[in-house]
Amino acid sequence: MSKLNPRQREAVHYIGGPLLVLAGAGSGKTSVITRKIAYLVQECGIEARHIAAVTFTNKAAREMKERVGGLIQGKASRGLTVSTFHNLGLNIIRREHKALGFKPGFSIFDDQDSKALLRDLLIHHDEDADHVQMVQHQISSWKNDMVEPQQALEVAQGPHEVLAARAYEAYNRHLRAYNAVDFDDLILVPVRLFAAQPAVLERWQNRIRYLLVDEYQDTNLSQYRLVRQLVGHRSALTVVGDDDQSIYAWRGARPENLAQLQEDFPGLKVVKLEQNYRSTSRILKAANTLIANNPHVFDKTLWSEMGAGDPIRVIHTRNEDAECDRIATEILDRHLREKIQFRDFAVLYRGNHQSRLLEMKLQSYQVPYKLNGGTSFFSRAEIKDLMCYLKVLVNREDDNAFLRIINLPRREIGPTTLEKLGQYSSERHISLFDACHEIGLEQVLPERAIERLRRFCHMLESLYQRCTQGDPIAAIRELIAEIEYEDWIRQNCSSDAVADKRIQNVWFLVDSLRSTLERLQEDDPDAGIEEAIARLMLLDMLDRQEEEDDSDRVQLMTLHASKGLEFPHVYLMGMEEELLPHRNSIESDTIEEERRLAYVGITRAKRTLAMTLAKKRRQFGEEVECAPSRFLEELPPEDIETEGLGQASPELNRARGKATLNSLRGMFDDL
Ligand code: ATP
Ligand code: MG
Repeated sequence: MSKLNPRQREAVHYIGGPLLVLAGAGSGKTSVITRKIAYLVQECGIEARHIAAVTFTNKAAREMKERVGGLIQGKASRGLTVSTFHNLGLNIIRREHKALGFKPGFSIFDDQDSKALLRDLLIHHDEDADHVQMVQHQISSWKNDMVEPQQALEVAQGPHEVLAARAYEAYNRHLRAYNAVDFDDLILVPVRLFAAQPAVLERWQNRIRYLLVDEYQDTNLSQYRLVRQLVGHRSALTVVGDDDQSIYAWRGARPENLAQLQEDFPGLKVVKLEQNYRSTSRILKAANTLIANNPHVFDKTLWSEMGAGDPIRVIHTRNEDAECDRIATEILDRHLREKIQFRDFAVLYRGNHQSRLLEMKLQSYQVPYKLNGGTSFFSRAEIKDLMCYLKVLVNREDDNAFLRIINLPRREIGPTTLEKLGQYSSERHISLFDACHEIGLEQVLPERAIERLRRFCHMLESLYQRCTQGDPIAAIRELIAEIEYEDWIRQNCSSDAVADKRIQNVWFLVDSLRSTLERLQEDDPDAGIEEAIARLMLLDMLDRQEEEDDSDRVQLMTLHASKGLEFPHVYLMGMEEELLPHRNSIESDTIEEERRLAYVGITRAKRTLAMTLAKKRRQFGEEVECAPSRFLEELPPEDIETEGLGQASPELNRARGKATLNSLRGMFDDL
């Protein structure tokens, strides 16, 4: 175990009041949190179940859990909460669903579900997909800022906001009718509950006796409120953060929450850490020099004893194809030549779309990679379908899910039947599922149609019984057999290989459900399939990644997703104007947040860092010239090595590189 430096130790041992650790990247902020959890349990006698640590992404939460697992084992760590804010919120809603007036088995609407609902609501006003997106974003901002629909109507300016404000009220009403919450509600609903019912809040304050928050600079208003409520007067709170790494302003994050802490907790102790244990001093200097271009509220110094290290390479390439080719071949080359494992490389980029070409190149050189946050596992059709079955199973009010599965596989329930059923149910304010059982339905639908609908409902009802009375996972397996889901997938796939993959995904989901359920039941023996489904959905929604695996693969992810992580060798792609800084930020003059994003990227690197850029890029079928990112000029020239600019022949170098590579590959294959 590494030895804490005096300041870190001070932060770990300080439990007399609220504490803020304000420090730059790689200085051991997250380490302070994990070590403090161990200290609280082992030295202060606080039971693990009374401690909660929260962070922002699943990946970060998982890493934190692993680090804590290395410090305290077995029984001592039982009941410890190390989770994302949203998971904590979900837990609170789950346990307090009665106080909240939710029926058990509520649904969580993911981004796509919310969008679909809004699209339905907006259809009378506007059908433009852009508008749906805008309305969704606006509603989300209001929720994060704790603005109620009524207030939104008052503050809305301009036609777009007015449209959003009108949709907001209807949207919330529908969510409620569906017995559902959206992503933002996972925080907002607990905050409102705690404000309205002090007794419930007190129960949670007694449960969470010490709260630790990582990446505090990215909390939004509703998260901040939740923290304050949970902490109450006890002030048993440690938060760590770095204002230079605030990269979620667009999602309502308020870095000023850092300064706000001092006002809200007059006795706040502030500890600053200055030694960076992650990066070589050249990498650190580059990061420091870059971020010095932003105005600063807090002064920070950061130094490292990791040695100077290699210069930072800035690699100019002809076009995006050459850029991705260069990264892929270099990684393979370094893997073979320097024996660097694939997992020690990370390629970071500003937007998800940048990964596609790189993936192709990596595939063509047979370099294994892991894409963090590409197409979501849960947005795959077969998974979405099965999830909708499960959602209706536990929550009959979820009309969205009901409609998705009613004809899957074909049950010959036509659109007219569904339309009439929809009309019938909305007139009576009941769910589609409940409407199927109403006697009055016989007035509006022919007998045959009703029979089909009821057969479908009956199948789900008996399945639900089997789920609650017996082994739920076995019941779900029966469901898959009963609806002949595998056959349905085969009939709807272009090839056997695709079908096989999809069927595998289905079983992967069932398996994940099983393990999630088992894990939940370790903490709470009463946890049922409802909780497992909700938990699983949330896992995916947060960072869109499949179950972790620890095989040896290059890590690909966006800069946003890389926060808090570290890798020995980092490539930062697309260092161009309009990409980083992003076009929208140039237009809206929010360059500072982009600079912080670049700072986050640079500070992920431990040993080597390379930045790549292209002269030309294809956009809408046309090649356009790209200008180097302004951030490149802000790096210390003495620590930069430029490649591919004005040199005799980058092509030649490349060809040479490839030739070596091929010969190396040849050698490798012969072994
Ligand atoms: P970020 O701002 O990127 O989230 P951080 O401040 O949370 O970074 P950590 O991730 O906690 O920093 O630590 C960075 C690295 O330094 C980790 O590999 C950690 O194990 C190591 N480290 C932290 N403190 C020490 C120490 N006292 N001695 C040796 N290594 C340390
Ligand atoms: Mg950290």
